[in-house]
Amino acid sequence: MSQIIALTNQKGGVGKTTSAVNLAASLAALDRRVLLVDLDPQGHASMGSGIDKYDLEKSVLDVLLGEATAGEVIVRGLPVHYDVLPGNGDLTAAEVELLDSDQRQSRLSLALASVADDYDVVLIDCPPSLNMLTVNALTAAHGVLIPLQCEFYALEGLSALLDTVEQIKQSVNPELAVSGILRTMYDKRTSLTREVDKQLRDFFGDALLKTTIPRNVKVAEAPSHGVPVTQYARFSRGSQAYRVLAKEMIRRLSL
Ligand code: ADP
Ligand code: MG
Repeated sequence: MSQIIALTNQKGGVGKTTSAVNLAASLAALDRRVLLVDLDPQGHASMGSGIDKYDLEKSVLDVLLGEATAGEVIVRGLPVHYDVLPGNGDLTAAEVELLDSDQRQSRLSLALASVADDYDVVLIDCPPSLNMLTVNALTAAHGVLIPLQCEFYALEGLSALLDTVEQIKQSVNPELAVSGILRTMYDKRTSLTREVDKQLRDFFGDALLKTTIPRNVKVAEAPSHGVPVTQYARFSRGSQAYRVLAKEMIRRLSL
């Protein structure tokens, strides 16, 4: 049985996709069997894993709509050493297309059950909103990993996300837990960072991950080459940070 972790924050640009791709690669490098699910219509997790989002025969949308199984759509044998259930712009239709279907919030959960034994961990890259796609991710997940930037507005919107997590927990997924708060594009030299750090520690306690991801230009460059930073620039600070994060997640989740 795999552990399913949703990378969620309805705020865009906080490092969800970057962290999903690089954590997937780092876990795979530590011999974990990893599946990355791209639930964002932007398809950046697919592209960043070396998959052309414009050239998909089938995508995770077909899986959500019950028109294909996860096993049929998963892309295997990639140079990144993890598998991908790819997504693209077609996903913008998901909200409307799922509207009339039954069990519409459990579609991903049901689909992943059929491949759960093939993986140690499934990472889900969520879109930047609390829509039906994100609800599907939270319904399927055992844990939520929340990337955020330590800026003045970092905590704004988090309560809406935590409320949603709580609702899903009370309705369909009682096991759902916050597996970690990940500080991205981190610069500990600023006093604002230290202030936000303190707020995060007070509020989240143990859930605040020890590993932080520094702002690093190699991390930003890697996606244009369709590879994780751990392959693009192995010895960069960004690459090292994601390797440390993978080890911390393995310890926390007993992966
Ligand atoms: P999200 O998925 O939450 O919208 P992304 O992962 O796409 O966020 O990141 C937003 C932007 O910030 C991207 O251009 C990405 O390349 C850049 N970025 C993310 N993490 C880092 C980092 N550690 N250092 C430098 N740039 C980063
Ligand atoms: Mg993203």
